[in-house]
Formats: sequence, C-alpha cells, structure tokens
Amino acid sequence: MARDIFNWIDGQQVSAASGETFNKSSPHDGSLLYQVARSKVSDVEAAIAAAKVAQPGWAAVPPVQRGHLLHQICNAMEAQTAKIADIVAKETGKSPAEATGEVGGAIALGRFYAGEGQRLYGRTTTSGAANKYAMTVRQPCGVAGLIIAANTPIANTAWKAFPALICGNSVVLKAAEDTPATSWKFSKIAHETGLPAGVLNVIQGYGKECGAPLVEHNDVDVISFTGSSATGRWIGETCGRMLKKVSLELGGKNPLVVCDDADLDLAVKWICLSAFSNAGQRCAANSRVIVFESVYNELRDKLVVAAEALKVGPNDGDDFGPVINERQLKNMLDSISRARKEGADILAGGRQLDGPQYAKGCYISPTVIENVDPNSAISRTELFGPIALLYKVEDFHAAMTMANDSPYGLTACIHTASFDRAYEFTQKVNTGVAVVNAGTYGSEPHMPFGGTGLSGNGSREPGTEALDIYSELKDVYFQVYPDRL
Ligand code: NAD
Repeated sequence: MARDIFNWIDGQQVSAASGETFNKSSPHDGSLLYQVARSKVSDVEAAIAAAKVAQPGWAAVPPVQRGHLLHQICNAMEAQTAKIADIVAKETGKSPAEATGEVGGAIALGRFYAGEGQRLYGRTTTSGAANKYAMTVRQPCGVAGLIIAANTPIANTAWKAFPALICGNSVVLKAAEDTPATSWKFSKIAHETGLPAGVLNVIQGYGKECGAPLVEHNDVDVISFTGSSATGRWIGETCGRMLKKVSLELGGKNPLVVCDDADLDLAVKWICLSAFSNAGQRCAANSRVIVFESVYNELRDKLVVAAEALKVGPNDGDDFGPVINERQLKNMLDSISRARKEGADILAGGRQLDGPQYAKGCYISPTVIENVDPNSAISRTELFGPIALLYKVEDFHAAMTMANDSPYGLTACIHTASFDRAYEFTQKVNTGVAVVNAGTYGSEPHMPFGGTGLSGNGSREPGTEALDIYSELKDVYFQVYPDRL
C-alpha cells in the first residue's frame, strides 16, 4: 500500500472533503509512492478560513518572537535533514546528496528570514510641516496564497513560507502535485515545533482544481507564484482583475556567452552545470549557449565530450536524475524531434534513456543541439530539461543582441577575460541576474531574484526585497502641538 499524503488545515492532517486522491509515482522507476489528497474548492475554502482566523493572533506575536520560532523550525529541519532529503530524493529522483544540499539551502533561507524578525525596518524621515514626524511601518498583508513548482521542492517551500510568516501573514501553500510530501513534511515539522494551528496550511491537488480557487478567493490578500509563464500569465490576469497583490517568479531561456578570449575548459564546466544540473529543471538553467565563431568548433567539441561523459541516475555520484514526470519528458522529446525535422543537428543525447537501470524512469540524456533557427519554437520556449542549444555569432555585439533576443529575461552569463566585455554585458543584458565567468545560477538567500519579460512581473524574492511582497508599508505621521506641552 502506498502512503497517504494529506492536507494540513488548521493544524490537522485531513483528507480531501470528497475523499478523492491522486497517485504520485517515482520519476525514477514509475513505482507508486503516495496517494495524495485531491483537494478542490471546498478544501481550499476550509484552509483559507482557518488561515483567516489564525492570522490576527500570529500578527500579534512580536516579529522577534516570530523569528525565534522560525529559527527553531530551522533547527528541527537541520535535525531532520536526512529525512527531508530522503523525501525530496524519492519525489524528484535527484540524488540524496543533491537533495541534502537543497535542504541546506532551505534552512539557510529560513535563518535569513528568522533574523529579519529583528529588523523588518521601516523608515523615519522628515516632514514638510513643523512639529510633524513621519515614518513607515511594515504590516502583514493578511492571508498569503503560495503556489510552487516541483523542481526544488523544499527550497521552493521555504522560499515563500519563511518570508510570508516572518511578516505576520498566515499561509495557505498549494504544494506542487509532483512533490506533495515535501511540503507536507515542512508543515509537519513547523507544527511539531509549535507554529500555532491555522498559521500554515498546506493543500494538495492539481493546479486548476486547487491552485485556481486559491488565486480567485477574496480572502487571500497576496499571491506568490513560482511556475511556468503560461500559468503565471493567468494568475497575473486574475489578480489584476481583483486588484490583488501578486508576485510571479516564472520561466527562463537563459543565455551563456562564450567569447574568443574565454577559458574554454572553464566555460564547458559551467555550461554543463548550468544546463544539465537538476536535469535542466531550473528556471535559471542555461539553455542558449552563444559562442564566438572563432572558438565555436573547439568549444562545441569539448562540450559534446563533457556532456557525453555525464552520468545520469538517481544516486550520489550521478550528475543528474530523471525529469519530474512523463508529460514533461514527452514535451522535451517532441520539441527535439520537431527541431530535428527543421534541420537542427543533435550532437549529443536527444533521446530517452532506455537501459535496464532506466526502465520506466523519466530519463533523458544530456542533449546538445546545433543549427537551430534562433526564431524557431525550440529557441524561444522554455523546455525545462537537460538541453543546450548552440549558436554561432561573429562578435560581442552579435552575442549581446542574441542574448537579449528572447521573450524571457531571468539570468545570463558571459565567459571572457576582458573587463570591458564583462562590464558591458552585465550592464546591457536584459535580465534580473548577470554573471561573469561562472554559471547561470540563481539567488542567495539575501539576494533579490527575478526577471524581466516572461520571467516575471518585476517582483523580487528572496532577500529583503521579498518583505515588500509579504508586507504592506504604512505611512505614520505624528503631529505634535508644542503649545500644549
Ligand atoms: P506550472 O505552472 O505548470 O505549475 C506550477 C504550480 O502551479 C503547480 O503547483 C501547479 O499545480 C500550479 N498551477 C497550475 N495551473 C494553475 C492554475 N491555473 N492556477 C493556480 N495554480 C496552478 O509549472 P511547472 O511546469 O510545474 O514548473 C516549472 C516552471 O516553473 C518552469 O517554467 C520554471 O522556469 C518555473 N520556475 C521558476 C522559478 C523562478 O524563481 N523564477 C523557480 C522554479 C521554477
């Protein structure tokens, strides 16, 4: 019998009101892992009602004490790192070592926000009027609706839950349907540590049935979403109509430029990490490799050798594991086959792995493709898989133009020995993150992450910038009358 994974509503683990469940299978071998509560409108309403009742009490806890509790949750996560990592590894197929690293990242992020309980700064400032004193204070939004993707499930859960909680909001978190147990486990630890009932509710289910009602509910004051640009667009439209505060952290089609003065071995190392780690299931993944023509052949040949040497599997020592589900795998394989028909050359990979150790798993080999049209679908849409496309350019200006020729704008990287090229690139590339001589990597806990174009709506999480999403600034004025002293 597969285990049941429940919702957390008002401090209790509960099934969906309908009693319905859906199956969560292992991306590694297709085996059934869990039967998960298939929540619908009434379950979402119950979670929101619990959050609404609990929120004023949580907001009344001084932020410093909220921070102490979040620190304790981090301590408990640290003590249970192996258990959390085991769940993450099972649900995603990534190796235990990688899952352990992800838990560490989630804890680091939690500690950063726990510390913010001692800050949550507003401003004191001047006034145009005599004897008038002006300041801003941060107040909670109310109920925060959080919706996450499955690619790094404990990091994604922490990324949103910790800043929402430190600001004094109560939370309804819609877990990703592909990683239900990770968010469930986070909630379990939080409740065991003493987070009051109703402050953190977790609902399980599908996007349209369980995520959409959360977005559309009048009692949810702020939505923070991490997922695809298509879903983000719908959420943005819905929140726009409702005039609801919304943060959208969406997809990417991230360029990495290799100049003629680059250290090619270093560039290849970083391309492999950027394009293939976590099976390319990173919003920040490098999918467009833009190379000066004078070093193109050399770089290409080195990259193909490096890609073919990567080890794919679920164990420590493997470079990356399976993609999250069969639908995503089919998407990738279909895109590759369309590109091939349009004249692209598949230099490495491009196929589902089929040895006995991959049977029934969602494994795709590390893929390198050249001769793709920069205007074709494969060049312009996110694949969210271990697939790198190569483009040849004449010089820096052509590289810059191609890097910016994308509907997305999340991360970008340049490999060069030239200060001038490096500096110009970081200033002119139209993305939220620019990197020199490393990879297209995401954010540290204290740094604001986000993008332009289809990559988001201009919000930035985490860092102190996320506090602007999860709190409302209020201007406070004091007028003093000296004649009354
Ligand atoms: P997705 O949009 O299909 O799903 C993401 C989440 O949204 C899931 O929990 C899903 O159930 C829910 N959802 C789906 N439809 C919904 C609806 N109509 N209303 C409310 N919720 C709905 O995305 P995915 O394919 O699962 O995730 C991969 C995407 O996430 C990629 O595009 C990736 O780049 C992006 N991502 C972005 C960041 C970032 O920080 N920018 C980080 C990680 C992943």
